[in-house]
Parts: sequence; structure tokens; C-alpha cells
Amino acid sequence: MELYSKTLNEISKDIKDKKVTIKEVLDSVYKRIDKLEPKIGAYITLTKDASYKRAEELQKKLDNGEDIGALGGVPIAIKDNICTKNIKTTCASKMLENFEPIYNATVIEKLEDAGAIIIGKTNMDEFAMGSSTETSYFKRTANPWDTERVPGGSSGGSAACVSADMAYASLGSDTGGSIRQPASYCGVVGLKPTYGLISRYGLIAFASSLDQIGPFGKTVEDTALMLNVIAGHDKKDTTSASIEKKDYTKCLVNDVKNIKIGIPRDFVNDGINKDVKEAYDKSINKLKELGAEIVDIKLEYAKYSLATYYIIATAEASSNLGRYDGIRYGHRAKEFSDLIDLYTKSRTEGFGDEVKRRIMLGTYVLSSGYYDAYYKRAQQVRTLIVQEFKKNFEKCDVIMIPTAPNTSFKMGEHSTNPLEMYLEDIFTVPVNIAGLPAISIPGGFASNGMPIGLQFITKAFDEEKLLQIAYTYEQNTEFKSKKPSIN
Ligand code: GLN
Repeated sequence: MELYSKTLNEISKDIKDKKVTIKEVLDSVYKRIDKLEPKIGAYITLTKDASYKRAEELQKKLDNGEDIGALGGVPIAIKDNICTKNIKTTCASKMLENFEPIYNATVIEKLEDAGAIIIGKTNMDEFAMGSSTETSYFKRTANPWDTERVPGGSSGGSAACVSADMAYASLGSDTGGSIRQPASYCGVVGLKPTYGLISRYGLIAFASSLDQIGPFGKTVEDTALMLNVIAGHDKKDTTSASIEKKDYTKCLVNDVKNIKIGIPRDFVNDGINKDVKEAYDKSINKLKELGAEIVDIKLEYAKYSLATYYIIATAEASSNLGRYDGIRYGHRAKEFSDLIDLYTKSRTEGFGDEVKRRIMLGTYVLSSGYYDAYYKRAQQVRTLIVQEFKKNFEKCDVIMIPTAPNTSFKMGEHSTNPLEMYLEDIFTVPVNIAGLPAISIPGGFASNGMPIGLQFITKAFDEEKLLQIAYTYEQNTEFKSKKPSIN
């Protein structure tokens, strides 16, 4: 077995037991990257030199008998909207093409404290706006299962690199599905933690009340190991929650007896692909077989979550992206006549179409004439969605729905129709609106061979139950052992 194809848990044990050196692990992963990156395009920046230097330091520590941390020596990839000190952080935008942060995001500090090696920054939709990684200013990323198809988005690079064994795990961000949907398209595990569980300090903001950082892993266990490291209160983020530190590997038991799983049939049946529906129905039966109790529930407001999301997210984006004026941050136009002209030209040149579309939409829904009709109403519907989830969690422990209504589509298929693209988010956005945790795990394959994602949702800060059920499902199905045949 090649080193790159091991799981995070396996490789970190091998390193600690000195079965392999950290350099050998890095060599294996970079060799894989050198070979596949031209076909996949998962990375915007690779940090090879710094990685080898760090590998040497960590190996010395290990050889001296020191503790190198839970992720000691393990190569990890980071979405390019998470600030990394002295490493370009572009948000896949021309606006930040040359931005090198002078500080690390809290999650990066935590990963480094745990001994991880940051091997590169991954491609994404520009400013995390999109569902296919096609709005990146730099390049497209291909799906390792079929390189003519998209990896999903916006964290497409972070999903593709884990799927193709070009990193053991990665971080993404999820504002409306950007971890779960690409995880489902690329056949890996993607976890969107409860809003507030992970510090957002150093995550470049898209929509602050929805954004959350989370891990991608090859297995549920790897995802739990990553969560152990990155979770926790941070006084630099006022929305970060003060909850005790947990060991999320403790809940990984193969048992779903006595767990009640809520199935919102009406919500799921609408406009969903036949193969996805079939895989979903099979999963229900599988969990029933394993001893879970299946409960019918209703998610009547969830169908309004797409409209709600695209009002709230664009409103917040229009405000957050105001800072890119060519003076404080980002691209500055070379020629301009006065201050307004400088702003206009810098923003016109620096932002791509999708980002501009969202800024315009957001500015519109916040404008004094339309605020009540759109923004205020969206906030009211948001409350209804939150309450509906709360009520349902009195009847069940976990809600299970597909991650996306379809499997990965061909590049360019939805590029000309943004509304079609937005519809891909129907099953992921309700979770962000309510601030809940959710996980996408491999749940089957479509007739064309593309992976299908299965999503579990629990109440806030109940990641343990979420991981337990995901783990049990994973242990009792064959999907995790399948890998894309790309070579
Ligand atoms: N696809 C959604 C959007 O375009 C979600 C993006 C995200 O989660 N960052 O807004």
C-alpha cells in the first residue's frame, strides 16, 4: 500500500511508531501531487520548501522523544480563504491575488500546535460563492472520479485533494453547503460543525452569520480527529461558543440502536435525481436493519430556505466585501481620476461575475425601499426554520436527508444559469440557516459511477451523536473502500 493512500489515523500512528519518517510521508504525498495535480488542479499554492523544513524539525523532536502532537507530521491542505501567515491567501480572486496575511487563522495555529504540516492552499469558488469551484479566478478543479465533472463547491479543491489522496485531510468552509456538497460529489467525508464550535478568526468572511470552518477526511474517524484539534472557544471570535473540550473519537461506536432518525419524506421527494433517491431509500433500510428507529417528520419551512439563504448570504456578503476598495485591501486599478473612480475600477477589475452579482443582490435587499420586503422577511423566515428544526428534534435525534439532489455535473453545465446552480444547495442551506451541525458521508454510487452523499443533521453541539451514526453507517457499508481510479 502506498503511503499516500493511508488514512490520517493510520499514517499518524506509523509516524509515531517510527515505521516511516515524516520525510517519506511528504515524499509520497508530493509525488502523488506532482503526478495528479495537472489533471485535478486542486491547489492554488503549494508550500513544498516550508513543508520539508517543518518535517525535519518535527522528526528531530520525535527522535528526541518529544511529543509531536495529535497530527504530528501529517500533511494537511487548507482552503484558500483561511489566513495563513506569509502564505498567499487569495480566496481564488484576482482581488486578493497577492495577499499574504501577516497572521494565522486560529484553526491554523491549532493545527500547527498539533504538529500538522500545511502542504498547500486549495482552489475554491471565488470568495466561496458557488457550488462547483468554477468561479475561481485561477483555474478549474476536476472531480477525481471523472475529470470532466466538477468537484462541487465552493471547497472543491479541499474535497478533490482528499479524494485523490493528495492530502490526508483538509479544511474547508461551509456557508450554505460548501463542505458537504463537494464531499458528496467527491466521495469523501465532510463535516460542517455547529455555528460557534470552531473559531472563525482568520476565515475571510463571506456571510458571517452562516460561515463555519470544518474538516474533510477519508473516514469519519479522521474527521473526528481533525475536529478534536480545531474545536474550542477563541476569545478572538466573539461568536465562538464556550463549551468544554471533548474527545470526538470516544463517540465512534458501531451502534445505532435506540437512535431515532427523522425522515422528512415530502421535503426529500421534490426534484431529486432517481439514483440519489434510490440510494437514500436504501440507506433508510440499512439503518433500520442496524436497529435505528425511523420516524416520519415534516420540514415544511425548509423549502423556503434557499430563498432565505440567497437574501441573507448576499446581504452579508455585500457588507463584508465592502472592505475591498483598492486602498485597505486588494487589487488597485493602475489608472484612475479620483477616489470614486479608484473604488469603481479596482472593484470592477478585481471581482468576478458571481461575486458582483451577489454584491448587487445584497445591496438591493438591504436598500431602504426593499429592506422590509426582502431582508427583514428573510430574517423572519429564518426564525421559523430554526423553530421547526427545534420542534423536530423533540421527536428524533438525527435528521437524515441526501446531501445534494444530484451527483456531480459536467463542467459548464450550470455556468450560464445561476438559478440552476443555486438549486443544488437545497439540502444543505437549511442547516446553516439554523446554525446546526451536519455531516456528509459516502452513501452510494449513481449508475454513471459518481459518488452520492448522505447527510445527517443533529441539534446544536451534538456532534457526538452525529459522528456516532455516521461512523456506524460507514462501518456497515462498502462505500468507503472505493476510490477513484485516477492515476
Ligand atoms: N453554494 C452556496 C453558495 O454559492 C454555498 C457556498 C458556501 O457554502 N460557501 O452560496
